Amino acid sequence: VEKKPPQTFVGAIDQGTSSSRFMVFNEKGAIVTMHQMEFEQIYPKAGWCEHDPDVIMGSVNECIAKVADKLEAMGHSVTDIKAVGITNQRETTVVWDKTTGKPLHHAVVWLDGRTKDTVAQLVEKSSSKTTSHWHDRCGLPFSTYFSGVKLRWLLDNVEEVRKAHQEGRLAFGTVDSWLIYNLTGGINGGKHVSDVTNASRTMFMNIQTLQWDDEILEFFDVKKEVLPEIVSSAEVYGNIVGGPLAGIPIAGCLGDQQAAVVGQRCFNPGEVKNTYGTGCFMLFNTGEKPVISTHGLLTTVGYKLGKDAPAVYALEGSVAIAGAAIKWLRDNLKMIKEAPEINELAAKVEDTGGVYFVPAFSGLFAPHWRDDARGCIVGLTQFATREHIARATLEAICFQSKEVLDAMNADAGHDLALLKVDGGMTNSELGMQIQADLLGIEVVRPAMRETTALGAALAAGLTVGIWKDLKDFSAHETPDVFKPTIEAEERSTRYANWKKAVERSLGWV
Ligand code: ADP
Repeated sequence: VEKKPPQTFVGAIDQGTSSSRFMVFNEKGAIVTMHQMEFEQIYPKAGWCEHDPDVIMGSVNECIAKVADKLEAMGHSVTDIKAVGITNQRETTVVWDKTTGKPLHHAVVWLDGRTKDTVAQLVEKSSSKTTSHWHDRCGLPFSTYFSGVKLRWLLDNVEEVRKAHQEGRLAFGTVDSWLIYNLTGGINGGKHVSDVTNASRTMFMNIQTLQWDDEILEFFDVKKEVLPEIVSSAEVYGNIVGGPLAGIPIAGCLGDQQAAVVGQRCFNPGEVKNTYGTGCFMLFNTGEKPVISTHGLLTTVGYKLGKDAPAVYALEGSVAIAGAAIKWLRDNLKMIKEAPEINELAAKVEDTGGVYFVPAFSGLFAPHWRDDARGCIVGLTQFATREHIARATLEAICFQSKEVLDAMNADAGHDLALLKVDGGMTNSELGMQIQADLLGIEVVRPAMRETTALGAALAAGLTVGIWKDLKDFSAHETPDVFKPTIEAEERSTRYANWKKAVERSLGWV
């Protein structure tokens, strides 16, 4: 291979719910090369979902090794990578032993619903007896979703974890912490940190001060020493130890949804993006002050691009099951062999034939926050076919996004004019058209759809001076725009039916 002149590249580790990838971007923000691999989902019981932290780490290392080979084969050198950024599935909870560096349990994945009773106990323990007890303080309601609740469950149910907590050996972190700890050396000096966007999903962080909140920790009965140090989303956390990237600084980190905000360049208050992956996550930039929702949204840190940079906040509507519903048609109903086939099926019918599918597999997140909901398919007649169900699945994802957008409009006090989208399901032309139809506003899809990894790369590149400021990040390519094609009356009839279907799913367990 002919050796190419030295380049300035940035790497991004994207550790997602169903797969890990490592991507390399050039100075223009274009992808040079990448490698991706799926890893095992462990379902010990109905409603539970775990990952093996060692498997997560192994998959990341394998992606890095494969990309290093690909770079060399292209005539580039790994040393062209000046910095690495990390973006990760959020809330997924890892516990390990500080003395051995080994996990004390499988990671409890963000959509795992095992903490239902823990949530009930926390509500009962609170003086207000409501799920919103700490909402003003940390931006979040009590929910099975958040990592602090998952840690409480692990302390209550796993003897090894309880003992390590008592003996001062316990380390808690989300996947960002686990990756940074291991990449910077593990027990040999590995850094125990969490970026502020991930920390804002624990329930333990004060959303104003961006520090761990002593009162909340006391309420949860968790010792502060088990928690990582909170750091900004763009600074050098440490250098990578070992492997092909040895010596390269890890210089940026954001939770996946916040990384997509950066990758979509939603830098102005009022800008909104929706990411359609396993779940669906809409984030609305509210500027430098946290806004507490009165309509079922979460308050979260959007990004803090530098130690001394201000934090920019977001209102978030999280939907647990989006692309996962398509995977369910594939893996459980065996209706399709690959996710994209849903589009061919759904396109064979003009509508769902009155079928509505509420994929509340592990309860409903925003704006309902009901862990007693379960999935249902309603409106079935003898006329209904798999084509109708396929179409109802795409619609379900879009209806859930509409519920979240309505909540954002209500909190904002005015209607949002357009929605920027990304994620795996945005590859579905039909899905995005249905989304525009149901919302009644334009849906804008960027040409570069790897916005999550790009966001992490931008943060890392900013830290090491590859980009000087946010203005350097503007997108160059023309996006695809989907315009609404149905009448307002039809939109509201279908939405009213959807709401009736949601009523059927609530309170099932
Ligand atoms: P994650 O980061 O959560 O693992 P991705 O952003 O990779 O998710 O998106 C994967 C999801 O997108 C899958 O659940 C799949 O159902 C869906 N998906 C991928 N391609 C298509 C397509 N062409 N049409 C519809 N859905 C798709």
